[in-house]
Amino acid sequence: MKTTKKFLLPDREIPKEWYNVLADLPSLQPMLHPATHKPVRPSDLEPLFAKGLIEQEFSRKRWIEIPEEVRTLYKIYRPTPLVRASGLEKALDTPARIYFKNESVSPVGSHKLNSALPQAYYNKIEGVRRLTTETGAGQWGSAISIAARHFGLDMEVFMVRLSYDQKPYRKVVMQTYGGRVIPSPSNTTEAGRKFLAQKPDTTGSLGMAISEACERAALDPDTRYTLGSVLNMVMLHQTIIGLEAERQFEMAQDYPDTIIGCFGGGSNFGGISLPFLRHQLAGKAKFDLIAAESTGCPKLTKGAFRYDYGDSAGLTPLIPMYTLGYDYEPEAIHAGGLRYHGAGAIMSQLLKDNIIRAMDIDQHECFKVGKLFAQSEGIIPAPESTHAIAATIREALKAKEEGHEKVILFNLSGHGLLDLGAYEAFLNGQL
Ligand SMILES: *Cc1c(COP(=O)(O)O)cnc(C)c1O
Repeated sequence: MKTTKKFLLPDREIPKEWYNVLADLPSLQPMLHPATHKPVRPSDLEPLFAKGLIEQEFSRKRWIEIPEEVRTLYKIYRPTPLVRASGLEKALDTPARIYFKNESVSPVGSHKLNSALPQAYYNKIEGVRRLTTETGAGQWGSAISIAARHFGLDMEVFMVRLSYDQKPYRKVVMQTYGGRVIPSPSNTTEAGRKFLAQKPDTTGSLGMAISEACERAALDPDTRYTLGSVLNMVMLHQTIIGLEAERQFEMAQDYPDTIIGCFGGGSNFGGISLPFLRHQLAGKAKFDLIAAESTGCPKLTKGAFRYDYGDSAGLTPLIPMYTLGYDYEPEAIHAGGLRYHGAGAIMSQLLKDNIIRAMDIDQHECFKVGKLFAQSEGIIPAPESTHAIAATIREALKAKEEGHEKVILFNLSGHGLLDLGAYEAFLNGQL
């Protein structure tokens, strides 16, 4: 039997720069101002975001330096392992070679810290005192809470009511890091009061929580908003995943042809795939890039490409994206991080141009493969990440059926140790 192999870079080889795909994607449509419908100017975003982050949002520079303070904090958990999933290969009896990048080893248990750290950093150096944000399942809220703490900033998190009730432990994680957690919709904002008046028993949504957090930042000059996905600058920060993976594949003397990630707003999938895609855009390679979304919130496979708001109140800029509509209420699936109505502009454009493809997967299949992955690799995956595992298994079984080799890389975006309630429901047949 083959043993599971890990490929780990030495510290000094943690990337010093992020890769900005906008340098190689000239066709991206601009965001539009919600009131004027004119392209958003960087200065329009200044009430919401740190200037350093706005600059990155619009930058066309191919390589952007990772600040030393951020790199030092990355070293707490990076490089993350690239792992040959030999146990899973054996369980599937597939000719495919399967690798995963294990982002679950971050202190908060997911890839979200990769962007939380630079977002807190740029706010800190610009003299901002308080950060606000929304969180679905609580992964982003946990990541930005500890990032804010590292840089001595105050943190307020609007948490989608469904997850606040379903996943009490993530709330405790945020509170332990010093974050203040408010279930959303709340009566602490104008937007929240409006949502509650319309539907008093609503379980909330990411879109509603974004409305509340944006309103808070817009009204307080000492507070800035942070966002865990969707934006170009978040895709940028997450490219550290793929850049490390690329060097690790050199150590493994192998190379992927299929790259898979689960899809909420697109940041972990973008993070693992965009650095590889740069070789395809330069005409030097070809990849099968697969986004795995939930049937409970299928913007890529069932949505339309058009301009839409990022939140449920229509406060954010209009983003050119695949969307189910800004007032869409996703099913109450356990993969809270995938319950977002739209896809980030970069990943949407790539889908529109047929450079990536998408599949939507039902949560029963996801928990089934989550259990198989736990038993074959020893890691209990986040409900979000099980979508990537399910897509990987579909592709590996296809390779077996068709009798050809395939090298699959998927991103394990997080672990499921704070999602055991969902696993319990699955194991008891109550999903
Ligand atoms: C937030 C989250 C996702 C979905 O967000 P993306 O921006 O699409 O990556 C996926 N997996 C985990 C573990 C998450 O926390």
